[in-house]
Amino acid sequence: MKRLFVLIACLVLVAGVGEARWGLAGKRIVVDPGHGGRNPGAVGPTGLKESDANWRVSTALKHYLENQGGAKVLMTRSQYQDESLAGRVAKANRWGADRFISVHHNAASNRSWNGVETYSATNGSWASQDMRNKIHKRLVGGLGIRNIGAKKANFYVLRNTKMPAVLVEPAFVSNRYQEARLKDPAYNWKEAYYIYAGIADHFGVRP
Ligand SMILES: [Zn+2]
Repeated sequence: MKRLFVLIACLVLVAGVGEARWGLAGKRIVVDPGHGGRNPGAVGPTGLKESDANWRVSTALKHYLENQGGAKVLMTRSQYQDESLAGRVAKANRWGADRFISVHHNAASNRSWNGVETYSATNGSWASQDMRNKIHKRLVGGLGIRNIGAKKANFYVLRNTKMPAVLVEPAFVSNRYQEARLKDPAYNWKEAYYIYAGIADHFGVRP
């Protein structure tokens, strides 16, 4: 009897873990690391390129989506190359992606500025706004920096992708304190995890 109980407990545990790990199975998600190659995007006070931070967060996000969520992921560029905005959008539309996540980091001439900003398209669908809000909430709650807002913008990759799309700006690379954090791979993984958790919330599954 005791052995049977242990067996059932194990089965319940395995089933529970399975559900949590593969909640995004069958979903096709494009991860778009902003800038790249000769286009570094914003550059931090001691030289950190936004394109490099975007790449590290994007590869960690890919890992969470595939290995924890069970999703299929397509990246819009490789590590050292740029891709045109039109090329990024074309890849996502051709692949028939279910969702599009563009990863960027912010900059301002005032170096004291820092915080989280998350965007969906100006004329974006309800689904794009829902995903934006859920990712934003996770980032603000998890990173403990200022909430600048979940907003709408007419960015090219948001406007021209055919699937619900969100662009994240989880922090300012122009802020000295934040630039130091963004150089730390553990912090890049943290940002990626909260983006992933927001996507899972959007689909109503456990991260
Ligand atoms: Zn950027």
